[in-house]
Amino acid sequence: MKAAVIEEKNSLHLREVEKPVLQDGEALIKVRYCGICGSDIHVLRGEHATAKFPVIPGHEFVGELVDIKGSGSQRYEIGDYVVAQPFFSCGNCEPCAKGEDNVCADLRFMGAHTDGGFAQYVKVATRKMYRIPKDMDLKLAALTEPVAVAVHDVRKSGLQVGETALIIGGGPIGMLIAMVARHAGARQVVISEISAYRRKVAEDLGFITVDPTDSCFDQSIAALTEGKGFDVCFEVSGTKPGIATAVEEARITGTIVVVGMTREPHPVDLAAVFAKELTIKGVRIHAQYSFIGAIELLKEGSLNEEFEAMISRVFPLEEVEEAFAFAQVPGDYFKVLIEM
Ligand SMILES: [Zn+2]
Ligand SMILES: [Zn+2]
Repeated sequence: MKAAVIEEKNSLHLREVEKPVLQDGEALIKVRYCGICGSDIHVLRGEHATAKFPVIPGHEFVGELVDIKGSGSQRYEIGDYVVAQPFFSCGNCEPCAKGEDNVCADLRFMGAHTDGGFAQYVKVATRKMYRIPKDMDLKLAALTEPVAVAVHDVRKSGLQVGETALIIGGGPIGMLIAMVARHAGARQVVISEISAYRRKVAEDLGFITVDPTDSCFDQSIAALTEGKGFDVCFEVSGTKPGIATAVEEARITGTIVVVGMTREPHPVDLAAVFAKELTIKGVRIHAQYSFIGAIELLKEGSLNEEFEAMISRVFPLEEVEEAFAFAQVPGDYFKVLIEM
């Protein structure tokens, strides 16, 4: 089969490789679309702490079930359209038993530790796989995984109806969090984003935006809540100034949700955390219940038009090298999909 293979740091090429071989409890998917995520770029650049080369990146995929082996197979039919949580977990530890397999002690992430979806075929754990309706738009279905991240982040944030939310970082994940937070009943959703293009798209979708590089940023953001601060701050940028903004702009007893991941530790003003009785919550990928929540949300469809605005470009698999070159340079786009 054809696949995009990262052979070593900064070296991704379209190669002819063996099709995955199924073990018991695994399923083979003929991939239709797979989205490029920031973490794929991190793997390519050698910035992912535990990724192993060579590896096929990609964890935001949708496709058709073509083979399945052993346990769980009776629930599916060959030809089903499916999506999957893109990781393998042990299934035995305490978090796994509680359905929080996203924090399993033995987590292997597809596209970093095992082969992912930028290929004609990908294998998944059957118990992580879900059927989607045959008539679902497959480009939208390719957003299931990032939508599940947003669903998980909003659920874990404890955001209540009528509260305010600040999203720091308006890339695809930040935008999806904004959409899901508004859908969940946030009365005011503000997005802090450097890119003028991304701010414009956010404004067209009805969000309030602020530019963190603006000299009046502090005053303008404070004015939005009359100086009270936000009930929930989602820190998606993973940057030092982003984290400082989250601590600064969270209201007294507010919550900071740590979505953006950084490898180097960043300082946090613990005196402010103490004085304002802030809660800081880490959120990792998505638990099973959030992934199922995302599928249901996509099936129900009320946010699909907004989600669709996140799909900026589609490249064929033959142009996957160009697609990764494109997606490595910040520009006027959100999500890039590869079509197999
Ligand atoms: Zn991702
Ligand atoms: Zn486990």
